[in-house]
Amino acid sequence: LIEADLLVRGAAELVTCAGPIPRAGEAQGRIGEIPRGAAAARDGRLVFVGPEADLDRKVRALPGAAVLDARGGTILPGFCDSHTHLPFAGTRAGEFHRRVAGATYQEIAAAGGGILSTVRSVRAASEEELVEAARPRLRRLLAHGTTSLEAKSGYGLTEEDELKQLRAVRRLAAEQPAEITATLLAAHTLPPEFAGDREAYVRLVTERIIPRAASERLASACDVFLEAHVFDREESRRVLRAGERHGLAARLHADQLSRSGGAELAAELRALSADHLEHCGPEGRAALAAAGTVAVLLPGATFALMLARYADARALVDAGVPVALATDFNPGTCYTESMPMILTLAVLQMRLTVEEAIVAATANGAAALGRGAEVGSLEVGKQADLIVLEMPDHRHLAYHFGVNPVAAVVKKGRIVAGGAAP
Ligand SMILES: [Zn+2]
Repeated sequence: LIEADLLVRGAAELVTCAGPIPRAGEAQGRIGEIPRGAAAARDGRLVFVGPEADLDRKVRALPGAAVLDARGGTILPGFCDSHTHLPFAGTRAGEFHRRVAGATYQEIAAAGGGILSTVRSVRAASEEELVEAARPRLRRLLAHGTTSLEAKSGYGLTEEDELKQLRAVRRLAAEQPAEITATLLAAHTLPPEFAGDREAYVRLVTERIIPRAASERLASACDVFLEAHVFDREESRRVLRAGERHGLAARLHADQLSRSGGAELAAELRALSADHLEHCGPEGRAALAAAGTVAVLLPGATFALMLARYADARALVDAGVPVALATDFNPGTCYTESMPMILTLAVLQMRLTVEEAIVAATANGAAALGRGAEVGSLEVGKQADLIVLEMPDHRHLAYHFGVNPVAAVVKKGRIVAGGAAP
């Protein structure tokens, strides 16, 4: 008999998402559902995943084992949110208010709002204040089923302020259950004090900030906002190559506002992910497919910016690009911690099937985090990161929207949210 210290039973369905990670093309829609499936874990790792009918025959509960009753719900791998701007100070509610009244993002930015207002708030905040501000966000992320996430800097834009953001992320990662992968995004936008001298700022990033973030082990990846008016293709390549030399995996904000060759650059650099891709064309899709780079789509940003053009998720899947979904959680263009909300947008606005969206939010999200070997699917030997949805089967995701369907969250074999006895 297999010994377990956690049993999860009583589900109408269990979705494993088992299989190679990342998944592309037809495999993007394979979720490996098991009717009346159950799971068991020991010391944080899955030791059994299968029909509940086999659970009692094969698994013995250790004394004091926890039993989570899914109460007719659906068990899913925990969501992997592979694109967030978590460590920030302040909100941009005032700007949102103006924007919905008709001002464009560009007009707001030109008037000193937008990203630079968050930069001012982050520079003024202490590390402790950044940690405190992020705590309730992490509680909400976890409550909505996110068990692993990425968190970017990019609102400091000085050596010390970028490192301060990353130190805040490191503290947050140590004090609560969700796993956080940190990304240095010093090349998020040009800081005002470098106006007219992008070269000097790119040198600061490549020669000072990247080496320090890497040597202090504050980040495992490096990201750039590639857009003609922000950092061009050559500057982006230099930053990501510098990151690579210091052991940081590449990510890229690519083709969000225009077709700037971001997808092609991400493919060329074998980036972990190319993110956004609202304006990615057929050449970009072909390059990503050939490189196996994960496309991280962020429909929440398109939705919250009230833009008409979502990333062409169908064309990406059909071209054989592995597609992931993430929140893009940030105070300016997408203020939501909810992956279920993102799944709804992906299905209703980008026309992914529910199954493709589930793989995008779990297995392929794990790949985009560089954590595909440990999380993203429910398979024996992997981390016991799972959620219980108060839904009779997976098809209710996206369909039943605007509510939080997550009834319980398990991280590394421990019940960390919900799951209380009635
Ligand atoms: Zn972003």
